[in-house]
Amino acid sequence: MKTWEGLGYYSRARNLHATARYVSEELKGKFPNSYSGLIKLKGVGPYTAAAIASICFNEVTPVLDGNVFRFIARHFGLEKDIAEAKNRKFFIEILEDLIDHDQPDLFNQAMMEFGATVCAPKPICAECVFRTSCFAYENDKQTVLPVKSKKVKVKEQFIDYYIAQFDSLFLMKRRSENIWHGLYEFPSIIAGQTGTTNPWIKKYQSAKITQSSESIKHLLTHRRLWVRFHHVAVNSEEEFHELAKELNFNIYSREEVLSLPVPKVISNHLQRISF
Ligand code: SF4
Repeated sequence: MKTWEGLGYYSRARNLHATARYVSEELKGKFPNSYSGLIKLKGVGPYTAAAIASICFNEVTPVLDGNVFRFIARHFGLEKDIAEAKNRKFFIEILEDLIDHDQPDLFNQAMMEFGATVCAPKPICAECVFRTSCFAYENDKQTVLPVKSKKVKVKEQFIDYYIAQFDSLFLMKRRSENIWHGLYEFPSIIAGQTGTTNPWIKKYQSAKITQSSESIKHLLTHRRLWVRFHHVAVNSEEEFHELAKELNFNIYSREEVLSLPVPKVISNHLQRISF
């Protein structure tokens, strides 16, 4: 996770590791060579399984990515919402009729490439070999096909991190929640209680906020985070241990904090302040 830090898509790192283990231990090092075997691998969905099965093992399995969806929807004039999972089967059935049984690898690569280069979001219809049979071209529907319902609205969230320190010791914990799962973080308060003092600080007489950062904007796929960092000096060792217990956080040295995998917004802050 430390090596992957900052790249985002942390579930990919976890899946890759789990899959490597599964192939090594359960499959005795033999990588699956069929769609049905590939789809069982963690993190491998229908698109990836079909792409690997056809391109590497010549299996007749159509791929369906955004590019293929677009071309098929426009060419055949299909108004089914491509954002809805239940419509995937419908498109797959069309592709199963079209796929070249002798060269499924070339067929799949050609379909993806065609959607990426000619039947692109801004299609180059003037140069397209499918003009005479294309529904969208004939009916001037290139801009409305494919039908794709709106993306999930971006949620705004406020996080206040409290970097509690005694001597050169700090409190951190490994996250088990979905977002940033497996990464470490400082104690925090979520949901916009900015400007308030964290109630646990008030309880500990030797704890004082020595410094607070500006609100930092951090974008995730479906969230816009506003993150502030507060440095809290705890001057009593006893209180520091009490605090760790109360919050259920672990104690780490400065060196350990720097070696733990953390979300990008935290590593950026630590770099900024030359932690
Ligand atoms: S004519 Fe235009 S819309 Fe139709 S398949 Fe070709 S590039 Fe796509």
